[in-house]
Amino acid sequence: MSDSPAIIAGGGIGGLTTALTLHQIGVPCVVFESVRDMRPLGVGINLQPNAVRELFDLGITEDDLDRVGLPAKEWSLVGLNGNDIYSEPRGRLAGYQWPQYAVHRGQFHLLLHDKLVERAGPQSVRLGHRVARYRTNSDGSVSACIERANGTTAEITGRLLIGADGIHSAVRAQMHPAQPPIHWGGAVMWRGTTWAKPIRTGASFVGLGTHRQRMVFYPISHPDPRTGLSMINWIAEVTMDNSEGWKQNGWFRQVGTQEFAHHFKDWVWDWLDVPALIRQADTAFENPMIDRDPVPTWRDGAVALLGDAAHAMYPTGSNGGSQAIIDARVLGARHGRTRGHAGCARRL
Ligand SMILES: Cc1cc2nc3c(=O)[nH]c(=O)nc-3n(C[C@H](O)[C@H](O)[C@H](O)COP(=O)(O)OP(=O)(O)OC[C@H]3O[C@@H](n4cnc5c(N)ncnc54)[C@H](O)[C@@H]3O)c2cc1C
Repeated sequence: MSDSPAIIAGGGIGGLTTALTLHQIGVPCVVFESVRDMRPLGVGINLQPNAVRELFDLGITEDDLDRVGLPAKEWSLVGLNGNDIYSEPRGRLAGYQWPQYAVHRGQFHLLLHDKLVERAGPQSVRLGHRVARYRTNSDGSVSACIERANGTTAEITGRLLIGADGIHSAVRAQMHPAQPPIHWGGAVMWRGTTWAKPIRTGASFVGLGTHRQRMVFYPISHPDPRTGLSMINWIAEVTMDNSEGWKQNGWFRQVGTQEFAHHFKDWVWDWLDVPALIRQADTAFENPMIDRDPVPTWRDGAVALLGDAAHAMYPTGSNGGSQAIIDARVLGARHGRTRGHAGCARRL
């Protein structure tokens, strides 16, 4: 079994970071990703200093991250009267040794993908391959049933199966067949990006409004030197009556901004025009704020869950992507330690 690969279900942030980590410590692995094409989906996410530290240890540099985002300088809460409620510095300005980065989620995802292919070769990521189920074997190995996009199937045996297949995880569904369905907390978010002049420090996260209706926005690119405009990631959020549950199916529905802009029509100050910010977006995505109940274990023999497959979380803490990175590094460190590798295991 020593040469058999680790099988990774899912090529999101968690799965790709796991693959980069295992490659770093010399463990062969293959990522099976159900989508046929890697596309830069999603808008902004924040990578917290603890996750950036791990990315640096993986050889992803500040220059790399500056191409997909920028270091965040401030976190602030502003009331509907336009006055500051609270603000604090972030990243190195807050005393951390590592910056916090606000990045374009899709471009960051592609950066991880390209790094893996560059280091481990194109065969390290198999697109259009869905992990449907698994079987644990008496010799400690695990076999995964793979469904290919062309309709064929295959069985692959490996030393480990990592279920990094997101909130709708097939690996988790098999491990915990009695898990309750996803539930909706009553909030709906619309997310988009608009090229606009960054405010405050030029790299500030601003939360504006109340817990029932709010806007969050922050730049995810350095300003264009010609125009001074940055790509601003914004999230418009409204809490609704959820007695009927969420009616749409899915996590990411593309919508026109006229479908929700009316909730924010009066949100105009001399320093910010929310209706204009929303109106000038190319497109917007509607996400219900969904969650799963915790499960008692993330492990079944040689099978382990990580990232959203293990512990989906509301995005209000700006931590889902960072936590998936930490999960991948802890898993790599534990694996490296049992196999006598140094690499990422040296600190953990
Ligand atoms: C499109 C998108 C946009 C997001 N935007 C934000 C955001 O703005 N802010 C924020 O905080 N968080 C956001 N998130 C969530 C955040 O990115 C996640 O918390 C974090 O990336 C967790 O990563 P993950 O790898 O565990 O899961 P995911 O990012 O969900 O990746 C799972 C991957 O597995 C693949 N997959 C699914 N099932 C299978 C299967 N059976 N076999 C093989 N492959 C499979 C999926 O196609 C996907 O590529 C977003 C997630 C997505 C998918």
